[in-house]
This record gives sequence, structure tokens and C-alpha cells, in this order.
Amino acid sequence: NMALSVGYCQFMDYDVEAPNSSFFLKPDIKHIHKVTIKQPYFLTGTGADFSECARFCNYNAVAVVGSEVIFFPELCHGCGGCLLVGPEGAVRENDISVGEVKKGTASPNIDYYMGDLKPGSMRTISIQGDMDKFLNHDGLVIIDCPPGTSCSMVFSVKDCDYCILVTEPTPYGLNDLILSIEVLKDLGKPFGVIINRDGIGDDEVEKFCKSSGIKILTKIPNKREIAEYYSRGESLIEYDSTWKGKFEEMVKEIEKDIRT
Ligand code: SF4
Repeated sequence: NMALSVGYCQFMDYDVEAPNSSFFLKPDIKHIHKVTIKQPYFLTGTGADFSECARFCNYNAVAVVGSEVIFFPELCHGCGGCLLVGPEGAVRENDISVGEVKKGTASPNIDYYMGDLKPGSMRTISIQGDMDKFLNHDGLVIIDCPPGTSCSMVFSVKDCDYCILVTEPTPYGLNDLILSIEVLKDLGKPFGVIINRDGIGDDEVEKFCKSSGIKILTKIPNKREIAEYYSRGESLIEYDSTWKGKFEEMVKEIEKDIRT
């Protein structure tokens, strides 16, 4: 909604495990960039001893049982250490695909990037790290960040000047909000809150924000019509064009907050 309202921006979908921005922004994808990581493989037929690899690997991605090497690719971080400490020439590396970054444009004037993690892969940071290379450091960048307080959330907000936490007015929403706020405070990031589906629960989120001096940027009402628009890939501003002005104002207010 914010990207569609301001129009001229770079939009980065860092929610690589479940990217859904294309549903609303309908980008014209012009380029797909494959993201690969290095992963070791072990030439077991050589009779070489790989026990040093197992000892070295901090992530327990390698185990040696008798003459067998067991490799757990999902635990491997691709550090290359086992190549250095393992028997010379008997540990090699492959390029493994972990997903892709899609680049394109969306109307009205959005420079669009979306990370898409390969199903089954856990290398969210590899995809996000690749997207970092395309960040525009001279203009407005809107990042769609993964929910929660995971590494991928922290990675997504690390370069942000301001974070917007979207929550729902329910006990679960409040609980998740408090956890996210703790992370942002640790990172020293300024933030504000949008209450989505206002009216479905109680007013504890609002009370918490007010008592903690946290700015509520806006409240989006809980309406069946809005949900119907979303389900068709249509935005809030298509439902009610007055939201365009509200989001533009919000961006101006945030820019002012950042500067002061
Ligand atoms: S590349 Fe690094 S993380 Fe992967 S198995 Fe080797 S030592 Fe472990």
C-alpha cells in the first residue's frame, strides 16, 4: 500500500520464505538472478580420513561413522572450512541453488525486487544478502520484512532508518509486537506501529503503545470488503483512494521524524 501510494521508490520483498508482494504490485519481471551457495562434497571412494572435517565443523554438518561420511546439507553454512582442514583434494565444492532474486518494475514507478527461497532451503540470509547488493542508498526504499524476530527479520531491518510494525489488536498481536519492539530497541532502530484489522480484538495494543510512548501511525479497520479486495490482489488504496493520501502523509511524517 505504501509503495503504491508514494509511487517513486524501490521496493524490496525480503520476506523470501513467503514473498507475496507480486500479488499486489503485479510487477513486470525483467530479470531473474539465481542465488547459489558453495557446498562441500566428499570423495569417499579415495579411502581418505574425513574425521578432521567432522571435528572442525561448528555446525555439525559432517559426521564420520567408521569409514562412512554423513553430510547434513541443511546444517552446512558453506564456510569452506572442511576443504581447508580435510584430506587434500578429497573435499570438493559444488554450487547449490538456494533460490532466486526477481527484478522488475511495477506501476506507477516502482523499482521492484523480490527474493524467493527455494522450497526446503533454509538459506534465507543468502538470498537477502544477494538482494542487499541492489539496495538504493540514495532514495526511498520500502522493505517488506519477514514477521517475527528471526535472523532474517534482523537482517532485513539492519540498514533501515525506520521500521513500521504492523500488528493486530489481539493478545497474540500484542505478544509478537512486544518481542519485535525488543529486537528493534536492541538494534537502536526507530519505529512506529500500524494496527491492522482494527476492531477484531481488544484495545490492549493501543493502550500499550500509548503507555509506552510508541507512535501509532494509523489504524486500518477490520472490514470484510477490504479482505475481499486483498483476496483478489487489490490494495487498500484501490478499495478507498483516500488511503493514498494517508500513506503519503505517513511517509512524510516518518521522513521528518528521521531527520529530527
Ligand atoms: S563448509 Fe563449513 S559448515 Fe559446511 S560442512 Fe564444511 S565446515 Fe561445515
